[in-house]
Amino acid sequence: MTESHKDYSDHLDFKDRETLEEYLANFTQFVDAQEQSDGTQPIIQDQWLWSYEGGKSSFHLVVSVMIHGNEIGPLEGLLDVMDALNSGKIKYDGRLSCFIGNPKAARLNQRFLDIDLNRVFDSNLLQNEINKLENVDEPTKIPHEIQRAQNLLPILDQADLYIDFHQTILESSQPFYICPFSEEAWHWARILGGAKAWVTRHPAQLSGGLKCADEYVRQKGKAALALELGKAGFSAKARAGVWKSLNRALSAINQLSQDSQASQNLLLESLAQTEPELEFYQTSFRCEFKQADFKLKAGLINFQSVQEHEQLSEEDSPLLLAQEAGALLFPKYPARDDNGLAIEPKPKELYRMVSLLSSHPKEIWPDLFESEEPNKNKG
Ligand SMILES: [Zn+2]
Repeated sequence: MTESHKDYSDHLDFKDRETLEEYLANFTQFVDAQEQSDGTQPIIQDQWLWSYEGGKSSFHLVVSVMIHGNEIGPLEGLLDVMDALNSGKIKYDGRLSCFIGNPKAARLNQRFLDIDLNRVFDSNLLQNEINKLENVDEPTKIPHEIQRAQNLLPILDQADLYIDFHQTILESSQPFYICPFSEEAWHWARILGGAKAWVTRHPAQLSGGLKCADEYVRQKGKAALALELGKAGFSAKARAGVWKSLNRALSAINQLSQDSQASQNLLLESLAQTEPELEFYQTSFRCEFKQADFKLKAGLINFQSVQEHEQLSEEDSPLLLAQEAGALLFPKYPARDDNGLAIEPKPKELYRMVSLLSSHPKEIWPDLFESEEPNKNKG
């Protein structure tokens, strides 16, 4: 969720590189096998899109991994699910489309090549970028991620539910959803059970996160969730997180598909209510990386509890104190030069603070709930 693609100073080691190639090849085998079968027609021809057709429900679940290239962990769990569907171990009635966002960046162990893919899911923005390049003869001049987003938008256009798996640069004390709030997404977040915490905001509230893939789908009026599954790389946690949340999603969609269209919303709500309520957080502070000598103390991770006035800086850094109690998000440890200055381009944010919402979104944002009487509290 940061701006710089050079955040990851460590390189993919040989074993991970081999595993990644093996998994990408597995994915390709699934896609090839699908092309040869007479059944499923993918929405678009894309090397990194696999579709499954349950044939009994039109509900379309769209799932993505590696929209940020180096967040490779969730691919493992996704392949498990694809394999289980293929072998009939999992039964699913609806439609499913799974895509890999940025395999090219993954192979270079980078977040992206030219620009952050998860900032350009916007038809107007894409068109502007293309127009700018209209006189350029070589299509290769179009930034890789612009081409990629153009390919992927038609898939997102057809989602009834969109789940986007991510990982953070550093370890996290717990997995978390991070995306704007909607009532339907809230129900799905509980059903999936992918995380207890949701870092959220009212969708009308602007943030640097606009033009994320999940934001694009939400603006189309459909449910969308982005789920962060711990530190980037292959891990048992990421694998299990994808497996659990997708199995639960598929099973819930099966139940919904047996219900009449009219009562599906009620059923979705009642399925959600059998699962624990989430904890809702909002971003309360963003520490801009104003000076290259800003340096966080060692060892901070995502969702680490922080006390008010706690010192967050290293001894040789200008003093940075937590403005309030809460949890820390996206702490950055960029590469530094011999003088200890962060090497450009440094990330825009050094860290972020999140704090619990003062009460349930139902109370704070009644306009986002269908059951709420309109204009009840308005003069
Ligand atoms: Zn990400």
